[in-house]
Amino acid sequence: MVQTLQISEFSLASIPPASKWQGWIHLGELPAGEQVRWPVLVVRGRRPGKVLLATAGTHGDEYEGMAAIHQFYRQLKVDELSGTLLAIPMLNPPAVTGGTRDGVWDHRNLSRVFPGDPKGLFTERIAAIYATHILPLADLAIDFHAAGTGAHLRPFLGTYIGDSPVVETQRQAVIAFGAEVIWATGYLPGRIMGAIYDAQVPGMYAEATGNRLCRPQDVEHYVQGLGNLMRFLGNLPGNYPTDPPRFYREDSSGRAGHVQSQHRAQRGGLFHPEVKLWDRVEVGQLLGYVHDPFGNVLEEICAELSGRLIVLRVCPRILPGEFAATIVPFEE
Ligand SMILES: [Zn+2]
Repeated sequence: MVQTLQISEFSLASIPPASKWQGWIHLGELPAGEQVRWPVLVVRGRRPGKVLLATAGTHGDEYEGMAAIHQFYRQLKVDELSGTLLAIPMLNPPAVTGGTRDGVWDHRNLSRVFPGDPKGLFTERIAAIYATHILPLADLAIDFHAAGTGAHLRPFLGTYIGDSPVVETQRQAVIAFGAEVIWATGYLPGRIMGAIYDAQVPGMYAEATGNRLCRPQDVEHYVQGLGNLMRFLGNLPGNYPTDPPRFYREDSSGRAGHVQSQHRAQRGGLFHPEVKLWDRVEVGQLLGYVHDPFGNVLEEICAELSGRLIVLRVCPRILPGEFAATIVPFEE
């Protein structure tokens, strides 16, 4: 039977070297007594080394990272490994159960409530346990995401830049992952990436196609990236990428990194794109139309800047104020 531990009972040192461990960490109970628990996976190598923390399911409708963590855990060989993989593939269990971005009971977005509150709503408690007990164990942290329900996203790797002493290590780690697209932005409060940054742990988040898909090529890319991060840490033998990819941008301006803040519909309706994901577009170019219930054009949504379409709405329904697309101004 798989053990359930209180967070105070969990320690990496209690897991023997050269072994794999699966267990639950108890997070709390619901009113009818159901336990809410994190599934936790640990692989300890034969030799000492660094700790890579990998998490997914921060948003419950993003599956690529969950599948990648499961696959990476299965395939890691303890005899080849130094150091430790610490992985939580379903960081927000109430959201995973609901198949929703936010927790089903308190309707909170885990990546907007950091650093959390140990006496707060359930999602805030999860954030606090992660920030207080899990993050300090890490030498490097990655949180896996994907486009949410109704949108597609060109896979990329994101991180925060600023004056943290770990920024240069983090920059090298982000490149080491091996993503084709890297978008480093300024600090946004409340995000899990903000908690990682505040803890001065080199960290990053990854984005995949999403829309509740779990495309094998996206999962494979994440698995390869985890291997590269282990090589970067010196925990596995072999090489990893050291040169920035062609699409590499660092941008600390205010709204950068906030993928839902551009190209918002003024009036709700059905969005019909006139462009494709990852198209190069110029400022002012028509991105798509919003149609009313009769099929008439309510509004045209045009590019607010020039660059690449990194996110595009694929489910036509759009509410007033919802985003239609996100453009990153890569210089090409
Ligand atoms: Zn997400």
